Amino acid sequence: MPVSVFSVAADRLAAIPNMTVLVQAPLSGYTRFRIGGPAAVLCDTSDVEAFQSALQLAKSLGLPRMVIGGGTNLVVSDTGFEGIVLRFTGANILHYGKALRVESGAILQDIVDYSIQRALKGLETLTGIPGYLGGAVYGNAGAYGHSIQELVQLVWFTDGNQVETFNNAACQFHYRESIFKDQKDWIILSTQLGFRDGDAAELAKTAADIRTIRDAKYPPSMRCAGSIFKNVFFAELPGAVQGEVPAKVVREGKVPSAWFLEQVGAKGMQRGDIKVADYHANLIYNDGEGAAADLVVIIEELKKRVRERFGFELEEEVQFVGFEYSAEPA
Ligand SMILES: Cc1cc2nc3c(=O)[nH]c(=O)nc-3n(C[C@H](O)[C@H](O)[C@H](O)COP(=O)(O)OP(=O)(O)OC[C@H]3O[C@@H](n4cnc5c(N)ncnc54)[C@H](O)[C@@H]3O)c2cc1C
Repeated sequence: MPVSVFSVAADRLAAIPNMTVLVQAPLSGYTRFRIGGPAAVLCDTSDVEAFQSALQLAKSLGLPRMVIGGGTNLVVSDTGFEGIVLRFTGANILHYGKALRVESGAILQDIVDYSIQRALKGLETLTGIPGYLGGAVYGNAGAYGHSIQELVQLVWFTDGNQVETFNNAACQFHYRESIFKDQKDWIILSTQLGFRDGDAAELAKTAADIRTIRDAKYPPSMRCAGSIFKNVFFAELPGAVQGEVPAKVVREGKVPSAWFLEQVGAKGMQRGDIKVADYHANLIYNDGEGAAADLVVIIEELKKRVRERFGFELEEEVQFVGFEYSAEPA
């Protein structure tokens, strides 16, 4: 039987010190949706040098590859990913005055908690956003009127060969976007976040209040990816649609996608074990043994309904892995 390129790759990756390598690893175990077929090879390390060596090797082999973090914003196909999936779980935090330099594999909530305990103000409204720091910077994660771009001072990233540093402007942040979404080969290794002085008790109260609201909307055990679609800038809507949107739903210049989805009857839709929450039209979850195929059908159906009713295209916030039409790394 011929030796597959992936078993050769797995052997070479496994020879890297401090690297854990799995073959045919079910990605459902690495996503919050609990959906997704296997990765041909999955490698995992908390060691930055090992991670860079693995990236370099994957690149030199010319095999499809991608990096994941906490898997909280991913929709992985039922057939999985025929390539190398890399995960970096390095989570060191260096504290300099009002700045933290944090490795990308740190859990965002741990950084929120760390900063609050040290009376560092800035991240408290992002409490409850799951996933790692690298994923948050990649997608400019945010909530309650703030996003991580407000804190990012420097980002260290690599294409596997060398490490480069970007300042905030070079990251080209905007709503749920950064340059790293366009340059999938640039992998974030660490980020320096700048804070302001705050009061630890006040910050903790703000975070706790937000956490209570968020936990009611997204129960911690819910298999989902948060919002499926990005919200929509009011100014970019067709004129006739602007006239239909009640002023009270517009927040920070954006109309929640949930408003449009609600108008087209999304709430409570179901296909197999995939359901649209009956209390939030932009929240789709896996209620058991849901399949990516059903999830994608629901997403497409919702986009079609909004297109036909309102004449514009909703854009997904979630990232697709292993699908024909997804933007995957070269
Ligand atoms: C219950 C729930 C609530 C949520 N609420 C919010 C919210 O309020 N606001 C919000 O913005 N998001 C929210 N999300 C979405 C998600 O949590 C964020 O997008 C999060 O920042 C993703 O981080 P992750 O580590 O899980 O990334 P993953 O899902 O693992 O990956 C997401 C993308 O980031 C890329 N990536 C990951 N790490 C790196 C890296 N080191 N370098 C380069 N690219 C990388 C991956 O290739 C992938 O394309 C929510 C999700 C859930 C499940």
